[in-house]
Amino acid sequence: MSESTLIKPDLNFIKNVKALGGDSLNKCYQCATCSVVCKLSPEDNPFPRKEMIWAQWGLKDKLMKDPDVWLCYNCNDCSVNCPRGAKPGEVLAAVRNYSFINFAFPRFMGKVLSQARYLPLLFGFPLILLWLILQGKTTPSGPILFRNLIPYELIDVAAGIFTLLVLIGLFTAISRFWSLLTQGINGAPSLLSAFKSYLMPVVSKILRHEKFNDCGANKIRYYAHLVIFYGFVLCLIATSISAGGIWAEKLFFKGNEFFLPPWSFFSVVKLTGNLGGLAILAGCLLVLYNRSVNKDKAGASTYLDSVFTWTIVCAAVTGFLTQFARMAEASFWAYFFYGIHLVFVFYLLAYLPYSKFAHMVYRTVAMIFAEYTNRKR
Ligand code: SF4
Ligand code: SF4
Repeated sequence: MSESTLIKPDLNFIKNVKALGGDSLNKCYQCATCSVVCKLSPEDNPFPRKEMIWAQWGLKDKLMKDPDVWLCYNCNDCSVNCPRGAKPGEVLAAVRNYSFINFAFPRFMGKVLSQARYLPLLFGFPLILLWLILQGKTTPSGPILFRNLIPYELIDVAAGIFTLLVLIGLFTAISRFWSLLTQGINGAPSLLSAFKSYLMPVVSKILRHEKFNDCGANKIRYYAHLVIFYGFVLCLIATSISAGGIWAEKLFFKGNEFFLPPWSFFSVVKLTGNLGGLAILAGCLLVLYNRSVNKDKAGASTYLDSVFTWTIVCAAVTGFLTQFARMAEASFWAYFFYGIHLVFVFYLLAYLPYSKFAHMVYRTVAMIFAEYTNRKR
């Protein structure tokens, strides 16, 4: 007796995947060239052919719990070789973008970040916060000290509150993702114990950008991501030293200017931060160059890609402009660029769980799951 399976397509899901960059998915006729071409796909149950049919059939539930969606590094080699122009690399990228909406906490934030019409609102919120903080203030006179415009304590308290919200949003989202990944697996570890057991080997792969490198088909992308990644690491180190100095002065060395910004141009903090900023800028320009001259391999740029890349570029550029204006003792411009810089940084950090930044976190969880299930090439 033949068995039949009832397929329940989620038409809304298909519509969303198409809108998020996967509009070519209907062209796929299941030849499997993509799965053969992909250098990262395991022999057992390879991707992305199966994901293409799941997407065509609107099988949202299957794709949301599919770790392979996240084991793809978007090199687009499969898209270049697809005989039908179905662009499987871009369809997988669209499914990943959909995941931010699906797992987001609170849910509406995923939708808000994915639609261009909400962009003014997303930038408007930090601009209004800034406006409220600056009420009744004029450009401070005397040496340019940003703490005279906005006290560091205020920035630290705001950063603390938003970091907490970001952590809650991220943890809830990846817990939802993990419970789907492990659905039906008897004795599967909890997210925290899986982190404890498998995080180290995964982090080592991330630091080496091993999978990007293995991909091989799109080397420019590999170098761009590598440079951006370490640029952010350097900026994080510089910011941590700077914040540490401010709190050291406040708690232990009252009045000792040595611990307070502005740092000299040749100080460790400045050199580290500037090197990080330059690396981020160079990496982003490489990404934009790759997307404009290498369209086949780089794939089409989606709204989420563009907003993310340009926000990073604007944050880096306004950071440098702030510094140059301060060095030139142009008070008004230094404070002006500083305010704008804070708005871009706010966008990148406060909306992290719902933007392309969250890729890093979801991919890490999927890699941990792949380690746990020994899913290897
Ligand atoms: S996406 Fe293209 S290469 Fe892959 S199975 Fe479909 S038609 Fe074939
Ligand atoms: S984009 Fe690259 S890594 Fe992703 S499925 Fe295609 S070939 Fe594989």
